[in-house]
Amino acid sequence: MNPSFVRLLVLVLTLSLAGCADRPAPSSTVQPGGERLPLILVSLDGFRPDYLERGLTPTLSGLAAAGVAGEGMRPAFPSLTFPNHYTLVTGLYPDHHGIVANRMEDPALAPKSVFSLGDRDAVEDPRWWNGATPLWVTAHRQGLRTATMFWPGSDVAIQGVRPDYWEKFDASLPPERRVDKVLEWLDLPVGQRPDFITLYFEHVDTAGHRFGPQSEGVDQSLRQVDGALARLLAGLQQRHLADRVNLVIVADHGMTLTALDRIVFLDDLVDIDTVHVVNSGPEAELSPLPGHEAAVEAGLLALHEHVACWRKEDIPARLHYGSHPRVPSLLCLADSGWLVESRADLRRELSKGKPFIVGRHGYDPAVPDMAALFIAKGPAFRERLRQPPFDNVDLYPLLTRLLGLVPEPNDGKAETLAEILW
Ligand code: AMP
Ligand code: ZN
Ligand code: ZN
Repeated sequence: MNPSFVRLLVLVLTLSLAGCADRPAPSSTVQPGGERLPLILVSLDGFRPDYLERGLTPTLSGLAAAGVAGEGMRPAFPSLTFPNHYTLVTGLYPDHHGIVANRMEDPALAPKSVFSLGDRDAVEDPRWWNGATPLWVTAHRQGLRTATMFWPGSDVAIQGVRPDYWEKFDASLPPERRVDKVLEWLDLPVGQRPDFITLYFEHVDTAGHRFGPQSEGVDQSLRQVDGALARLLAGLQQRHLADRVNLVIVADHGMTLTALDRIVFLDDLVDIDTVHVVNSGPEAELSPLPGHEAAVEAGLLALHEHVACWRKEDIPARLHYGSHPRVPSLLCLADSGWLVESRADLRRELSKGKPFIVGRHGYDPAVPDMAALFIAKGPAFRERLRQPPFDNVDLYPLLTRLLGLVPEPNDGKAETLAEILW
């Protein structure tokens, strides 16, 4: 029988049984009686799917085995935290949503023209985020309640809208407290209880940077976040919500090992005093100082080992990058495990007295180590299913469908994950 006919048949049968079945209406969190099942979107920053194979994450591995397990979700370029978290909740490539890097410049926002992760004033300035509409804003406008236990952008009044419940980012808040907050929200009476909740943990990423992906430090962080997920599941169980909540667990990108002897110095490619470097590392974004365009381009655009550079208009189409005004005129991208930066940047990093950052991400999304975790478990999802690799822009159409929302215009394809729903 034709597969789409089978799906239609299943849909008709399920709908006709909806009055007596305990399952939600297909592909949606809306129950037959009108009750909505909460959707919890968990981000484990920097969690590579192969980390599940270390035998340290019984909770996550159990969810992956019982539910839908992704073989690797491809991040958007650049494979960094802020661009990718905003992609996950907008379905837009960074070039289209405007959070084009963790550090960026926008002359149109002068005098506050620099954005960086550590700068609270910049992070909380909605003008950086207003170019796109994140899921919680859409959900709010379409009548749902929303809550965010951290997520890049969630502590900002984007387009004038905040989540109904939200917390200001605070890395010192222990994982258990974050979980308890989510459980508290779920204890609210129907009508006040959020329909969409985010929950974020940076611990695996932090350990990956400090110690590298193959380290006792990462192993410890895996146990830590797995323990937090176990606490969440136990809390749901206690509330008889274990089968009445849909869980989507993702990462923003993976992690790979770098080394001091795998650095391409920008100083060796151009006269470093004639460029303005906005970002450097796995990828560098820079522009020539006025009057030096030709020499800088000649130096960078020549062939080099372990790094490729392009004018923004010539960036390969598969990276979906280069049209946004916040992308500087030149991009250099290092091979996996390599870095491209200035000697001054390296000296600055080494002078902090901390160990050299060994784990990095930001590379081409096609690099296998950049792949991100994806697990889905709950009444809306099919069981014991493996999902082949897919682009993270395709997550957004799944999330809007789960919440019964009309999606904003986006770069995702709804077909990619349609088959993981009942
Ligand atoms: P990255 O440099 O791409 O590895 O970024 C990861 C870091 O982003 C984490 O270590 C967090 O400290 C930081 N971060 C995550 N969420 C937020 C947020 N909502 N506000 C500020 N910083 C955040
Ligand atoms: Zn990250
Ligand atoms: Zn990171």
